[in-house]
Amino acid sequence: MEVQQTINATRSWSQYRRYQGKSVGFVPTMGALHQGHLSLVRQARKDNDFVVVSVFVNPIQFAPNEDFDNYPRKIRLDLDLLEKECVDLVFAPSSEEMYPKEDSRMNQTWLDVVGPITEGLCGISRPTFFRGVTTVVAKLFNIVQPKRAYFGWKDAQQLAAIRQMVNDLNFDLEVIGLPIVREDDGLAMSSRNAYLTKDERQEAKIVYQSLELAKSRILRGETSVKKITTEMKLLVEDSALSRIDYTTIVSSQTFRPILELENGQDILIAIATYVGSTRLIDNFRLKVPQF
Ligand code: AMP
Repeated sequence: MEVQQTINATRSWSQYRRYQGKSVGFVPTMGALHQGHLSLVRQARKDNDFVVVSVFVNPIQFAPNEDFDNYPRKIRLDLDLLEKECVDLVFAPSSEEMYPKEDSRMNQTWLDVVGPITEGLCGISRPTFFRGVTTVVAKLFNIVQPKRAYFGWKDAQQLAAIRQMVNDLNFDLEVIGLPIVREDDGLAMSSRNAYLTKDERQEAKIVYQSLELAKSRILRGETSVKKITTEMKLLVEDSALSRIDYTTIVSSQTFRPILELENGQDILIAIATYVGSTRLIDNFRLKVPQF
C-alpha cells in the first residue's frame, strides 16, 4: 500500500492507472476509521481494479465553534486497517497541501449546492457545512479522478448534495451510496461516538430507537409527520442527557419536507441529537406502504 501526501503524486498515480484502462474506486474519509468506513472500502475493492482512500480532516467544513481541533486523528491505526483491506493508495494530505494560504484566506473558491438538499436538516444548524464538503469532495475528485466514489447513507444529505454536484457539473464518475453500519444496539457507527462518556454511550441508542418508533408508526398507517416526529422528540428528550436538534421526514430524493405521508413515497426519517455535547445524526430510508 502506498501512502501519498501530495496532490501531484496522487494525481500522477491515478492518471497512470486510468490511462492503462484500469478502474479506480475512491473512498473519501476524515479518518478515525470504523466498520462503516471499511464497508465502503470493501465495496470499492470488489468493484474496481484499484482502490484509493483519502484521510483528511477538512477544515473548511467545520464552523469556528465546532470540533475541528478535537476531531479524532488516528492515522497509524487507520493505515493498519486500510493495509488489511488491500487498499492500493492512501492520500493523506496536510491542510496546507489542500489549502495553500494566500492573502491570509484559506480558500477562495466554493462549490455550493443550493436548494432543499442543503438548506434543511443539518443545513440549519450547520449553515456552512455542505459547501465545505462539496468543495473538498470536488477537489478530491479532481485529484484522484476515480471511476467510482463511495459514500455512506449515514450522511444522507451529504450523499444527496454530492450526487447533485456530480450531475450538475458533469463529473465523469459514478457515485455509489451504501447502507449504514451499526453497533449491536443500533447506534450508527461514527468517528464522533468516541466523544461519548460511558453513560452517554448507553443513552445514545435512543437515537436508533426513535427511528424504529417512527418506522413502526408508519407501518401501522400513521400519516401525520407532525405526530410521528413529536413522538420521536418525546422519546429522545425523556433522557436527561439528550437534546434534539431536529427530527423530520423528507423526500429521500429531493429532501423537500413532507407534512402528510402518501402511499408509495420514498421517504427519509432523519434525526440529529445532542447526547451530552456530542451531536449524532442518523436516518432510516423507507417506502410508505400501500394500505
Ligand atoms: P467521515 O469520515 O465521517 O467523513 O465519513 C466518510 C464516509 O464514511 C462518508 O461517506 C460517510 O457517510 C461514511 N460513513 C460514516 N459512518 C458510516 C456508517 N456507520 N455506515 C456507513 N458509512 C458510514
